[in-house]
Amino acid sequence: MLTSRVQGAMNDQLQVELQSAYAYLGMAAYCETISLGGFAKWLRKQAEEEYGHAMRFYTFINDRQGEVDLKTLDAPANKYKSPLAVFEAALEHERSVTAAIDKLYELVNDEKDYASQAWLDWFATEQVEEEKTVGLIVDQLKMIGDRGDALFILDKELASRTEA
Ligand code: MG
Repeated sequence: MLTSRVQGAMNDQLQVELQSAYAYLGMAAYCETISLGGFAKWLRKQAEEEYGHAMRFYTFINDRQGEVDLKTLDAPANKYKSPLAVFEAALEHERSVTAAIDKLYELVNDEKDYASQAWLDWFATEQVEEEKTVGLIVDQLKMIGDRGDALFILDKELASRTEA
């Protein structure tokens, strides 16, 4: 059983994860428009991964006899200045998600909900990976600058992502 405060916060995070999926889908759509199919594929996979995160919350809320409360999502951005701008936005976004997970972790601790806290460990660790991966791509795009040949190679590399 979840306390109403934990249930509310878990539902808020479910929304954050769905909004993340939507944000990455908007980024993917932009990359399609500039013919970077590899970037678009990577971002689509990332959107799937975020949907998977949302479903973890959905399942956990139900497993704890709570009630899922789905909220309205905001339309995501689908226009960017460059691929670098996309991944800088993604990094900023992941940092905000990390802050939200940390806040949730603190809240469940406050409520002495240790099952939720243990369950959230996975997300705390996952965010380290998310920030690392996206940060790496930001660094590589900075290295590339305006060299189309190098961007072409990175696009091919990002196209190889198969796992969400
Ligand atoms: Mg996530």
